[in-house]
Amino acid sequence: ESIIRFEKVNKWYGNNFHVLRDIDLNVARGEKIVICGPSGSGKSTLIRCINRLEEHQEGRLVVDGVELSDDVKAVDEVRKKVGMVFQQFNLFPHLTVLDNLTLSPMWVGKLPRKEAVEKAMQQLERVRIADQAGKYPLQLSGGQQQRVAIARALCLTPKIMLFDEPTSALDPEMIKEVLDVMIELADQGITMLCVTHEMGFAKAVADCVIFMDEGQIVESSPPHEFFNNP
Ligand code: ADP
Ligand code: ADP
Repeated sequence: ESIIRFEKVNKWYGNNFHVLRDIDLNVARGEKIVICGPSGSGKSTLIRCINRLEEHQEGRLVVDGVELSDDVKAVDEVRKKVGMVFQQFNLFPHLTVLDNLTLSPMWVGKLPRKEAVEKAMQQLERVRIADQAGKYPLQLSGGQQQRVAIARALCLTPKIMLFDEPTSALDPEMIKEVLDVMIELADQGITMLCVTHEMGFAKAVADCVIFMDEGQIVESSPPHEFFNNP
């Protein structure tokens, strides 16, 4: 039983740029999917449709039993289930690491401060950055900032985590610390979709590697098959 189901999903930007073409995709609960392909092929758009940062125009998209449509309630419901991590971290520079989590728009005001702090610290510990809780994002390395962003996404206890090129903005020596955290998360059973060029990560954790080209899924296979193809 799929946690994410795309059925003949089509999307256009404007009136004529056909960015997603007849996407059919089933993601099983706990599955790890890596999405690769050339720049501009629609990878980012595809995962952004899952939490409705982008809207599809045709076809069906069902996330954990909720069909995404113009219904605001459905969108809110889905967003509570889905954490997202971006290439550029998207942290608030004027807030401490801790407050980037406790003041996250997703759950601000929903918990008393003490509980929010406890929950945030737990997630920071999970990505081994709790000792930096009082610093500001720009005082941290890129790898540390990305781990904070992952912790923030985890605060809602999402069932699904989306990663959009999470290591592309990092210096090579910082990539490993982020990938290690992602590999640990993968082991904890969360469903993950990750747009990345890190084929080492794909080999280590992916159940399935998807290759996109010009808005279509042109290949979808387990990593051992994917990497053996000429
Ligand atoms: P990828 O993640 O594979 O690089 P994207 O999904 O980011 O691809 O983008 C696919 C194509 O859609 C690109 O040509 C990009 O310029 C275009 N595109 C992305 N976002 C928009 C937008 N908001 N409006 C118009 N075109 C867009
Ligand atoms: P990425 O490659 O990391 O997905 P991009 O640089 O392609 O990021 O896009 C950054 C932002 O600009 C995204 O929100 C995307 O939707 C938007 N965008 C990308 N291409 C276009 C475009 N041709 N027209 C309008 N917006 C675009």
